[in-house]
Amino acid sequence: MAVKFVIIGGGPAGNQAATHGARLGAEVTIVERDIVGGAAHLWDCIPSKTMIATGGAMSFARRIAGMGLEDVDAEVDLDGLRSRVESIETRLHNSILSQLSSQGISIVHGSATLVGPHTVQITRAGITSEIEADRILIATGSRPRIPEWACPDGDRILTTRECYPPKTLPEHIVVIGSGVTGVEFVHMFSSLGSKVTLVVSRQQVLPSKDPEVAAVLEADFIRRGVSLLKGARATAIDRDEETGGVVVRCDDGRVVRASHAVLAIGSIPNSDGLGLETAGVNMVAGGYIEIGNHCQTNVEHIYAAGDVSGKLPLSSVASVQGREVAKHAMGLHTLEHRHLDYDKAASAIFTEPEIADVGLAEADAFALGRKIRVTKVPFSASAKALINDDPRGFIKIVSDPLTGVVLGGSIVGRHAAELISVIALAVTAGLKVSDIADSLLVHPALSEALADAAE
Ligand SMILES: Cc1cc2nc3c(=O)[nH]c(=O)nc-3n(C[C@H](O)[C@H](O)[C@H](O)COP(=O)(O)OP(=O)(O)OC[C@H]3O[C@@H](n4cnc5c(N)ncnc54)[C@H](O)[C@@H]3O)c2cc1C
Repeated sequence: MAVKFVIIGGGPAGNQAATHGARLGAEVTIVERDIVGGAAHLWDCIPSKTMIATGGAMSFARRIAGMGLEDVDAEVDLDGLRSRVESIETRLHNSILSQLSSQGISIVHGSATLVGPHTVQITRAGITSEIEADRILIATGSRPRIPEWACPDGDRILTTRECYPPKTLPEHIVVIGSGVTGVEFVHMFSSLGSKVTLVVSRQQVLPSKDPEVAAVLEADFIRRGVSLLKGARATAIDRDEETGGVVVRCDDGRVVRASHAVLAIGSIPNSDGLGLETAGVNMVAGGYIEIGNHCQTNVEHIYAAGDVSGKLPLSSVASVQGREVAKHAMGLHTLEHRHLDYDKAASAIFTEPEIADVGLAEADAFALGRKIRVTKVPFSASAKALINDDPRGFIKIVSDPLTGVVLGGSIVGRHAAELISVIALAVTAGLKVSDIADSLLVHPALSEALADAAE
């Protein structure tokens, strides 16, 4: 008899677990209350990067004279942009649906709750049904955190989910939160032509990143006229009756009047209403589900993956976790015993210049007192960067001074999100800097700077 594998949530974690589980012979059912593809496709990665791509085309148009072309006066068409976002989402959604159906995976629409350790109850339009499962994966994702001092109205006070695009292009938008999502939204709106103010609670944007990396981004924001309110925490956002806009108040007394405000202050897990107590599943602080190796919860046959598991809130990590769950649930872990190492996950920030990093950061190595070798090459020395008329940024590789093994790296510059994969592979596979330096790469290409940084 095939293993009955029920997956709650059809985002990246759920989908990957489903396709891999089916490939390994499980009878797979996905329960999804919204759309398969998850928040990643509907609200997060895909729409934000689609808008950023349009913003990037606009900022390129502004710099086109540098390429020896006549200036063009590009203006955003909000309806066109909305259609583009929707059409990309639809194409991706259809492609996932056809993949799932080609593998015989059942999709049940409705909201799922555990009503016993092996029983999943599904509710849709007031009608309930139940399915039994041998293995269960909870992959219910997360949603934007809304503080008690803000009341999003979907019009002028926005969460990230109401920005694809908003009803009107903000004349002046205040972005609250200077982590990854916050800075991407600053970049997105400022490229589209909005004036932007960023509320930065610390003294550095991207407080968890390498200060040298953050400094390049801050310089770019300042060059574009973004106002940075450093060392300020927002404490209230209200509608301004007079102008129809918003008033943002900060704890240091500063007040900003603008047309819009967007909250980008993190997310909370979708773990409420899932019946976790009934099934005996442990949670940890913040409402995340506690997981061990292979994303197993304390209840042996119940797994959790993706944002709800409280590891790295990245679609890429959710996908790898999903695959790991499928293998473990189907008994493959004894054959291939490799635990996920979240410290080796690559991540990117889709600003301009783009930022990407992986593994050990220079600042963290210093904090740990660990001896490292750091090599850095600026893109200003790269032929391809000059041809692209974009010599901003650098590649930095962190390695072990004795063995030459690559420990980490960061890249600031065009296509950083693509280029980082070489360093990510080196970190995961334990390659040495000489392995990168000795590779015969393409010329002229930005990747040549990787080999130079590995010398
Ligand atoms: C603005 C923004 C941009 C981002 N950009 C990136 C990016 O560029 N790259 C990247 O790697 N990550 C990005 N992320 C993070 C990424 O979106 C998440 O890490 C990813 O979506 C997590 O995947 P998941 O499978 O855990 O959950 P989700 O994608 O959230 O999917 C969970 C699914 O579960 C369903 N569900 C929830 N509860 C129930 C229930 N009780 N019953 C049935 N179904 C249920 C939901 O409807 C949803 O479809 C971004 C996040 C934000 C906020």
